[in-house]
Amino acid sequence: PYENLAGRTAVVTGAASGIGEAVAVLLAAQGARVALLARRAERLEAIAEKIRADGGQALAVVADVTDDASVEAAAARIHEAYGPVDLVVNSAGVMLPNPVEAGRIDEWQRMLDTNVTGVLRVVRAFTGDLAAAAAEGRTADLVNISSVAAHVTYPAYAVYGATKAALTHLSQSLRTEFGPRDVRVTNVEPGLTDTELKSHIDNAELSGQLDGMFDALGGLASEEVADVVAYVASRPRRVNLGQITVLPTRQV
Ligand code: NDP
Repeated sequence: PYENLAGRTAVVTGAASGIGEAVAVLLAAQGARVALLARRAERLEAIAEKIRADGGQALAVVADVTDDASVEAAAARIHEAYGPVDLVVNSAGVMLPNPVEAGRIDEWQRMLDTNVTGVLRVVRAFTGDLAAAAAEGRTADLVNISSVAAHVTYPAYAVYGATKAALTHLSQSLRTEFGPRDVRVTNVEPGLTDTELKSHIDNAELSGQLDGMFDALGGLASEEVADVVAYVASRPRRVNLGQITVLPTRQV
């Protein structure tokens, strides 16, 4: 169902689980070479191994997007193995809700450094590749996984929402820099998606509240968000879906 993905070279962050994993698996199944980035080596290796067993091309690259040197080393490793990339998907992210009053500077820093600066580190590492690919007449894509939390406000999700609002703004601003050079930028804002994201919440009441939302609304499967990413990357190169919201139907 997707065109224009075979022969692409992709980097997917947050590929150890959830949306990033599903994107990596789908892109590889469509004939892209895929570098999978995250911190958990075993998880990445197992996913890359499965992709290869299914006839795809995958490279597991352990990297922490909160660490400049780690991202630079990852980019060097990918360049060595695959050469320049033409499709970058930023899915690495963390959601650590708590009331602002709890004063959890540790969580605030982690969310900002992963969800915002982490994306910027990855963008910095691969901007040259994307611009060069586009200059050569090839399709080049930057896809950022933001969230509906960029717009919707919930108590205890102030800082997470702020990081996603920042990412949505960043995507739109990056489009003004890259679009004129034929590099597409897409900001995807999913609603509830059934992944490990919620497993890091350390507040039992908020965990229970979120479980209740999943029960009531039904979360999307990661594969359903991956389908959107593959769709945007497979459009003809003059067509850029800039902003996409994808929600479980009952989430309003
Ligand atoms: P997951 O927790 O399953 O995936 C997050 C991924 O990011 C993991 O593979 C994790 O792997 C990786 N990661 C986390 N921190 C780092 C880091 N410092 N460096 C590198 N990789 C990192 O959750 P989702 O798939 O749901 O999350 C993907 C994105 O989707 C996030 O940006 C999230 O905000 C967004 N989103 C999710 C929604 C949902 O309901 N699930 C809704 C809207 C948006 P590892 O721990 O091995 O590093």
